[in-house]
Amino acid sequence: MATGIQLGFVSKPDRPFLPDINDFPSKIGGKPVWLNPEYPLDVEEVRCGICNKPMVLLLQIYAPEDVPAEAYHRCVYLFCCKDGKCHKQSQEKSFKVYRSQLPKINKYYPESQKLPAGQYPKDVKVAPLCKVSGFLGSKQCSKCKSENYSCRDCQIFHWNNAYHKRICCNTNEKESLILMQLETKALESYLFPEYELVSEEEPPSDILKENEKYDISKFSNAIDPKILKDFNVNEEDCEDTEVDVDKAFLKFEKRIAREPSQILRYARLHYNQEDAEPLWVCQDNKPTEIKNCPYCGEKCTFEFQIMPQLLNYLNLDNKNPDSLDWGTVAVYTCNANCQPKDKHYMEGYVYHQYFSNDGLNKRFKAIDIKQKIESGALTKEEIERIMKIKKEKDAAKTNN
Ligand SMILES: [Zn+2]
Ligand SMILES: [Zn+2]
Ligand SMILES: [Zn+2]
Ligand SMILES: [Zn+2]
Repeated sequence: MATGIQLGFVSKPDRPFLPDINDFPSKIGGKPVWLNPEYPLDVEEVRCGICNKPMVLLLQIYAPEDVPAEAYHRCVYLFCCKDGKCHKQSQEKSFKVYRSQLPKINKYYPESQKLPAGQYPKDVKVAPLCKVSGFLGSKQCSKCKSENYSCRDCQIFHWNNAYHKRICCNTNEKESLILMQLETKALESYLFPEYELVSEEEPPSDILKENEKYDISKFSNAIDPKILKDFNVNEEDCEDTEVDVDKAFLKFEKRIAREPSQILRYARLHYNQEDAEPLWVCQDNKPTEIKNCPYCGEKCTFEFQIMPQLLNYLNLDNKNPDSLDWGTVAVYTCNANCQPKDKHYMEGYVYHQYFSNDGLNKRFKAIDIKQKIESGALTKEEIERIMKIKKEKDAAKTNN
């Protein structure tokens, strides 16, 4: 039986992400692709509630709705601060979610006139975008006037960190060309790495063969089987935490084992079914009350959640204790998909959970390693290095 949940997976993009209305992007990272070319989001709506810096796009999902007609095209954008320190203080203040909607008949994507993606009818005033963040670029470089920015933060980043200081008004073509390559790299580093978000229905429970959950040996024949035999990090490492593992976590772990590499769970597929619940990672800190829609007063319901596996794709420095982290982040949006007049972005709510203790985190990270091996993301050398670290840790444990 289908579970009514659509799972999201990360995939390497094979083409640039363009605002193609017949195939609108759902993606991780990079700059936002705006559904509405005339009204991109203003950075002032997306500042971190802790450090006040502009957030960056974590992901966007094209999620059209049948009702109302104004939500025929619908995108949900999830932004977050890149600073893990802010998330530690308040994850609610370090995330923001907005939806943008258009009716079937709209002036940007006329059905009578097929235009190439990214091109709009003549009467559409396409807004300038920030070179750095991709938000509305209402400011300009005062010197060259050829670059747009959303705010001073982005302008300073471009000037100091992305070589614009040396490129701006530079007449040496050869030098500019080299600098522009460095610029591209630096600009990429401002954002999260960009991936396509592909979806698949969650498989029913009977495909899970419980005992195979941690058996990594069957996944890769590229790796020496002897190494894999030793590579039994998961259960061993976690036995000591088993006793106080909380029920919600066990449920979480069992459920994601059906598709361990899922980075997202999309739950709002059928309106007539009961409101879906997120898969929480622990019993504590579940939201007790979900706020109503600030625009129409209707209830906000759970739409999707991002999973800890997504952290693996964000180029984070795992050695840094302040790097970004979450157990799960659940997004709630207006159940009526309301479209207030003259409003282009409607805010939703974000609720999050961390894993309840270190033991769980460790246990979960072990699953991550397994995933990385499965996907071929780790080289034999890397696996051997992990093995060595593990052996040293085990030896230290025995000595204690
Ligand atoms: Zn922040
Ligand atoms: Zn910007
Ligand atoms: Zn300039
Ligand atoms: Zn509403």
